[in-house]
Amino acid sequence: MEVTRRAFLQLTGLMAGTTGAFERFIRHRLMGLPAPADDVLLTPHAPEQWLPSVCQLCPAGCGVAARVVNGRVVKLEGLPAHPINQGSLCPRGLAGLTELYHPDRLLQPMKRIGERGEGRFEPIGWDEAIRTLIDRLRTLHQRGESHRVAWLSGHTAGIAPQLIERFLRGYGATRHFVLSPPTGELPVDAFHMMVDWQGQMLYDLAQATLILSFGMDWLQAYPSPVEASRAYGHLRRGQPDRRVRVVQIEPRLSVTAAKSDEWLPVRPGQEGWLALSMAHVLIRDRLFHERFVQDSAVGFEEFSRFVESHASPEQVAEPTGIPAETIVRVATEFGLRRGLAVGSRADALTQWAVMSLNGLVGNIDARGGILRRWEPEALSLPAAVTPTDAPMLPTDAQALPALLQSQQPSPIEVLVLSSANPCFLSPSPSRWADAFKAVPWIVSCTAFLDETALHADLLLPTATALEQWQYAPTTASDGTVVATICRPVLAPRNEARGLPDLILQLAQAFGPPLDNALPWHSLEQLVMDRLHALYDAKVGLLLPPISVPGTPAPSVEKPAMNVEEFGKELLARGGLLWPAEASPWPEFRTPSRQFEFVPRAIAERLKASPTLFPTEESAAAAGFPLQLYLYSPLAFLNGYGAHLPHLQQIAGSQLHEAWVTWAEIHPSTAGALGIRDGESIWVASAHGRITVKARWSEGIQPSVIAIPLGLGHTAHGRWAQGIGENPACLIEAKRDPQTGQPLWQGTWVKVWKA
Ligand code: SF4
Repeated sequence: MEVTRRAFLQLTGLMAGTTGAFERFIRHRLMGLPAPADDVLLTPHAPEQWLPSVCQLCPAGCGVAARVVNGRVVKLEGLPAHPINQGSLCPRGLAGLTELYHPDRLLQPMKRIGERGEGRFEPIGWDEAIRTLIDRLRTLHQRGESHRVAWLSGHTAGIAPQLIERFLRGYGATRHFVLSPPTGELPVDAFHMMVDWQGQMLYDLAQATLILSFGMDWLQAYPSPVEASRAYGHLRRGQPDRRVRVVQIEPRLSVTAAKSDEWLPVRPGQEGWLALSMAHVLIRDRLFHERFVQDSAVGFEEFSRFVESHASPEQVAEPTGIPAETIVRVATEFGLRRGLAVGSRADALTQWAVMSLNGLVGNIDARGGILRRWEPEALSLPAAVTPTDAPMLPTDAQALPALLQSQQPSPIEVLVLSSANPCFLSPSPSRWADAFKAVPWIVSCTAFLDETALHADLLLPTATALEQWQYAPTTASDGTVVATICRPVLAPRNEARGLPDLILQLAQAFGPPLDNALPWHSLEQLVMDRLHALYDAKVGLLLPPISVPGTPAPSVEKPAMNVEEFGKELLARGGLLWPAEASPWPEFRTPSRQFEFVPRAIAERLKASPTLFPTEESAAAAGFPLQLYLYSPLAFLNGYGAHLPHLQQIAGSQLHEAWVTWAEIHPSTAGALGIRDGESIWVASAHGRITVKARWSEGIQPSVIAIPLGLGHTAHGRWAQGIGENPACLIEAKRDPQTGQPLWQGTWVKVWKA
């Protein structure tokens, strides 16, 4: 339905002058809010509160200030002094309100009564739900088969990932599979190989002197898009004496590319060659950081020999589509300015090539370069008493379907799911549904009946972030640590429970030894426990008090004197922060204890074949002449968000597209295929085909077709189901040999008019 500005004004005018049934209709049917009873309709004079919380619609952990009137949340804003977002929220964060009040939320436990995948469930009580799950776990534990329990999670924010690990270890299970998002993740595999095998990295974007980004749409994705936008503003206007240049290397004119000084439309999959050829220029022209290379790195000679013989600008110009003189110019500027090379979690070789540029200019553990996440000791949970020293087994999530079907009976008897929807968001998603058939019992902790939850035997309804206590540490890009610690903004709707509370309740219900690993009865008890520990440690700074918009900022009172005052202030303000300067001095945690230019896994790969990145002849010859480029618009970051109508509405705003899957195709390519702008087309790979709407765009490499991820649900609520097509079904379930991560890019397709 197209809503014109005139119609919108008429509608809102009508709403302003209307009360009662029509308002309830507008709120309930069009906006998706539950129909309120007359006695809770909001009035302008109702008392209001602003309460702190955290947004968990992506892993960034932005601070939230929620306006609560008559016990209902009516507005979300950014928490003003939160180091990650400093008072702003992205459109996803703002849409958190519609997730809270979504009419299709799962609000009570359900058990399956139909076939797997059929979607027929009946409500049960929490007592029965927990008893059923505990009975299963206890039976396996008594048989000495705890290892046959596994957990599959997706993006799980806050304290929940730590509690899941403790739950599994305490129980004696050793498998926690974690699904990675398809795009936008940081290049942690290269970081682990070259800098720190167990650390997590950050890009100090705001202090960079030049940003050279290889395929990372960082303005839309970098752990917090809000933080990335703030850094961008600082780079462009925050420093009177300089304006930092941004160069984006990507096949598509993404939001970051459109806001860059220079866009280099590289051919997909060739970003690694481009990075290596820039390394060639830095070494050839001695633009690298000699002291870092001599004192803090190993493998430089081997790396130099490789790039000198395989990656001159002239050698890579043709495969990458970027002229040699452009490569030399950009590399020279990067070296002279000691820039920051930004990449994403692509294949291991591309990650390595991009990370090596940062090593060459010595931009590791340096302001404006790559920093490491850290956690102050006082924030960490106390060591758990665990009954097993068994190491967690390798848990490559993409290998799980094959593992489930590898034996009869399946090696996994009970599979617990949380925030994981691989039946929608995985290469070849249908293989997951097939694999789940082999698992005797599946329980899904979820807020929505999504494609994966349809295959569960038991559904446990989870609460949103606003409905839970929070103990959520995270790190800003400049190394400042912030822990959001607060009360729920409101009680969970109906029977929903926060995932951390659910894990703790399961542990208590199970008893020894699991309750030794998780000795808290609730997240509230855990928060109170940690609050006392933080008070005793006397470290960290309280966030400033929340000011109510339109009123004078509250004065900052003198420091709290006793633990009660401290706790009251902490929970009212929403958390504590630790300035970056307090971080421990890092050391390289690699086998050599130095930055490794050629880590062992890469050395083996180079020895096996110097042809590192894909070539196009074979796919083109097989009748698939175009390369598919998948991306996540901000609205559907990590492939999640189509269930929220506000996000559907803005997903393709650059092309004025909404509620449909579109494909960006270059006009010259489309013209040659006889495809007009706006027509329906088939896009087919060797693995599947979909129909989408063709949109001409000059902002795309002519040999590429780009399709957004996030649409094409067959479940997940009224605003997601049946809208658009899911391009994941075009992708082969191939994994990177070094990292085990799925390879989302690199699929070849053909296109014709539908
Ligand atoms: S970046 Fe957006 S979605 Fe992510 S936590 Fe912040 S406000 Fe929420």
